Order: sequence, then C-alpha cells, then structure tokens
Amino acid sequence: MRTLVIRGGRLLDGAADILVQDGLITEIGNVRAPSDAQAVDARGKLLHPGLVNAHTHGHGNLGKGMGDRWTVELLLTAGPWINGNRSAEDKYLTTLIGAAEMVMKGCTACYDLTVEFPAPSVEGLEAAGRAYREVGMRAVLAPMVADITLFDAIPGLMQALPAALQKEVERLRLAPWPTSLEHLRRALQGWKFDRDEVRPAVAPTIPLHCSDEFMVACARLAREFGVGLHTHVSESKVQAVAGLKKYGRTLTAHLDSLGLVGPDFTAAHGVWLDDEDMQRLAGRGASVAHNPGSNMRLGSGLADMRRMLEHGVNVGIGTDGANCSDNLNMYEAMRLASLVSKVQGPEWQRWVSTVEVLNAATAGSAKALGFGDKIGRLAPGCKADIVFLDLEHINWIPLNDPVNALVHVEDGTAVHSVMIGGRMVVENRRLLTVDLAKLARDAEDARARLEKLNRDNRTLYERLEPIVGSFCPALAKAPYPINRYGAWTPAQ
Ligand SMILES: [Zn+2]
Repeated sequence: MRTLVIRGGRLLDGAADILVQDGLITEIGNVRAPSDAQAVDARGKLLHPGLVNAHTHGHGNLGKGMGDRWTVELLLTAGPWINGNRSAEDKYLTTLIGAAEMVMKGCTACYDLTVEFPAPSVEGLEAAGRAYREVGMRAVLAPMVADITLFDAIPGLMQALPAALQKEVERLRLAPWPTSLEHLRRALQGWKFDRDEVRPAVAPTIPLHCSDEFMVACARLAREFGVGLHTHVSESKVQAVAGLKKYGRTLTAHLDSLGLVGPDFTAAHGVWLDDEDMQRLAGRGASVAHNPGSNMRLGSGLADMRRMLEHGVNVGIGTDGANCSDNLNMYEAMRLASLVSKVQGPEWQRWVSTVEVLNAATAGSAKALGFGDKIGRLAPGCKADIVFLDLEHINWIPLNDPVNALVHVEDGTAVHSVMIGGRMVVENRRLLTVDLAKLARDAEDARARLEKLNRDNRTLYERLEPIVGSFCPALAKAPYPINRYGAWTPAQ
C-alpha cells in the first residue's frame, strides 16, 4: 500500500492537506501522515476534483478539424469518410489522442461512445481500453451500435436519393443486430480491464437508428452485466420531428416504453426534450449528458439545463467528440454550459450558476458514468483524482471566487499536474505517460493513410451532402411544440 500526503494546497473551500492511501483519499484537513508517506508539495496550487466528461467519442479524434458547417445529419453522412477503414491500431491511436488531451486539460474520467463499422469487435474495444490504460485515465467504454442507416432512419430521406445513390448507400449497411449483440456479449463476458479503471457499457447510437428489438436486447444485455446504457436522445430537431413521426410519441417516451430508461441510463444532448420527457427521465433516476459546445457547433440548438435541474434530472457535462466539437476541453464545456444558460432568457435567477455547472461537470457526470460518489469529489473514500492548478498562472491573478474562476476563467492552461488514483499522470505540465512527439508522428502517418483509403467515401459524402443538407433542414422547419434554436423564429 502506497501512502502520499499532499501538503500546502488550497482546496475550493480552503487550505487543507490530503492523505492518499492506495489510490484513495483517506483524510483531508490537518493530516498527520505516517513517516514513510511520500510528500507531494502543493503550495501555490489550487486543487480541484478531476473533471468528468459525460459524453465523448474516442473514434472522433482522428477526424479532428475535418468538418466545418456540419449539422448532426451531415456529420453522420460523413461518418464513412472520417471514420472509415480503421485498423485496430488506428482505434488505439484515435483513443490515445483524446485521452492525452483530456488529462492534460484536467479531465480524469470520461464516457466514451466509440464506434466500429459494421459492428463492434472485441479486438477494437481492447485497443481503445489499452489506450486509456496507457494514458492512465478512467473511462466507460460504450460501443455504439445500430442496425439502421441514417438514410432509413430519417423518414423520406432514402426516397429523396436518386436511384444510383440509393444503390451506393447500400454498402453502408450495418451488421444485422443479432451479430452486433453477439459481439457485445463476447466483449462484456471477456472484459479484461479493472472496472474501476476502464469499464464497459452499451450504447444503442440513436433510437431512430436502432430497431425496437435491438434496443430492448441492448437494455437486457446491459442489465444482465450490470453496466450502463447511453444513447443520443433528441439531439437535433430532425431527430425530434422524425421520432414523433415514427413512434407517434417523443423519443424519450418511446425509449421509456421499451424499458430503457432507468438509473443506469444516460441521454446524450437532450436538446429537444420537453417538460414531460424531463419528468420521465427524472422519475427513473436517469441522467442527461449536456454538451453545450457540440450543440452549438452542429447547430442542434440550446439545451435547457435549468429546466432539467428543476425537474430533478441528474445532469452531467460533456465535450462530445473531436469530430464535432473540436477540442476535448472540459473547462470550455463548463464555461459554455454557463453561457448557454444565460442566453435563454432575461430571468437571471434562472440562469445556471457556476456552482451548479461545476457540480454537473464533476458529481453529475460521475453519477452518469456509474461511478456514484467515488469520483468527482475530494473527500475521504473517493479516488484520488486531483487536478493541481498553478495559482501563479495569469488565469488566477487575482484569486477571488475559486469556483467562479474555475468555470468562467480557467481554460486548461493553468493545469500544472494531474493525479489519477494517486498516480501523477501529468506533472509540471508534462504528460508522463505518452510521448507526444511520437504520437504526432503516428497520427500523421494514420491520417495520410486513411485519407487515401477513404477517398471514395469522401466522394460519396460530397454527392450526398446537397441532398441530406437540404432534406434535413426542411424537415427541421416542421412545427414542434418547443423551440431550442437561438435566433430563429419559426414561420407562423
Ligand atoms: Zn455523441
């Protein structure tokens, strides 16, 4: 058993020493450490619990900076181009890039919805899990699965394609769901990682992209193995409108009727949730992963975090993937969560506070990940996942309210060191576990190779873009009982 004592640091609520034994915080305050304890000097540092990213996509990191004016539906159309033809080594590499970025920006655990085409594989999941272990961060690895392509998921979209393109998108068909389910079961049965470090979950991608039988089977499998369920819910207005059309009720009501919604369920985005949806999620003890950056980046709209909290929904905060919100910076995600709330109306008392935002990005996300109160807090009994911020960095000069500054001022540049499970992963601004120069070379090799391999997929995207890009926005003009767009007034 290894004992550490972190001396001289400042916590969000005042100065205190922290005793860490075997990766766990055992005491905070005026600590009398055993004589053989290793001392960590935290003078001049602000210590905060590692931020927890409630929603990201490991496969997205090799696609960083590829799309500009993309809606969710255009991003999905671009999937084969930006994610196609990946080897197991590519799956490891793309996950490693994101994990490295997250820890260097103060995030110590994430919920990663990773995808493989045409179905998840044990090998691919092991590659992704290995990347998190190498970096030294915690992750919930949820393979995204679907059995319906975008073109069949959006009512009328397939028919809008010319016959030649209809034939071409045939090759994007996903594996039949029993095959994906079998691979998931194999991955869950043979899970090799310590579940306190990298644990599995199940992620039916988007309700419209999964048949009902498949979603029910996913929920059964998740419960059989005691793991989380995570799906994108009402992210875009296209999804919300198509959901009403297909199911005759909202996506949340439909998922609930199938038995998916429970305390282990996380709804990603939830931009177009109505009050009843939120009540339903809250009543079942479910979580929402709020991704304000991605929601703006993809033009999905402004999710109403205040209303979610009022209804009693557990809210976590996520960055979403690098292929749709560029960086994986949880400080930025917190700041955006605060700012998005403030453009939703003049009643400033209803804006989410910095305390609420920080709570969502730590304890709220931790609950969504299924880690309960073991992470996302600095308290005895919690994992020693601790971020050390340099108080001599310009972000912290002067230091007024630390929570306010953490949400509104900090951008990751004051991160000095990051401890995860009592082990320093970042120290003195250097990532100790990964050679970044080698990572850059490997990433460039993969990028160049994949660019060639996916040339045809890119061409296919370019032919599909004008059709998807006009059909979906037209669908989004349909009336819907709530409006989550910013400066857009629906035609009367
Ligand atoms: Zn997502």
